[in-house]
Amino acid sequence: MLKNDLASHILVVGLLVFNELYFNIIMLKIDYTKCCWKDGKCQQCSCQSGQCVGCVEACAVGALKRRTKVEVDLKKCIGCGACVLACKHGAIELI
Ligand code: SF4
Ligand code: SF4
Repeated sequence: MLKNDLASHILVVGLLVFNELYFNIIMLKIDYTKCCWKDGKCQQCSCQSGQCVGCVEACAVGALKRRTKVEVDLKKCIGCGACVLACKHGAIELI
């Protein structure tokens, strides 16, 4: 467990450094037709009592926020892909 935590930490730090050096390479696309979070709430499913727990919680660097719609701060995003895996609706893509 500790080894996994350390490995995840090293990966996040590595990706942060990479993104700092090569900023603009990482592009994350949210397909708002697939994303169930619209107008500040979950509209299409009743997952987690309408909270749509997923992408925002999966992001270790706080790059995603649920506002009126889900928004990404590409300056913070390190391209780890955790949000892509966490989204049950296939609404996020790294390009
Ligand atoms: S997990 Fe997917 S469907 Fe849910 S808010 Fe994030 S992008 Fe939208
Ligand atoms: S790819 Fe997704 S989870 Fe990873 S840093 Fe970027 S926004 Fe956060």
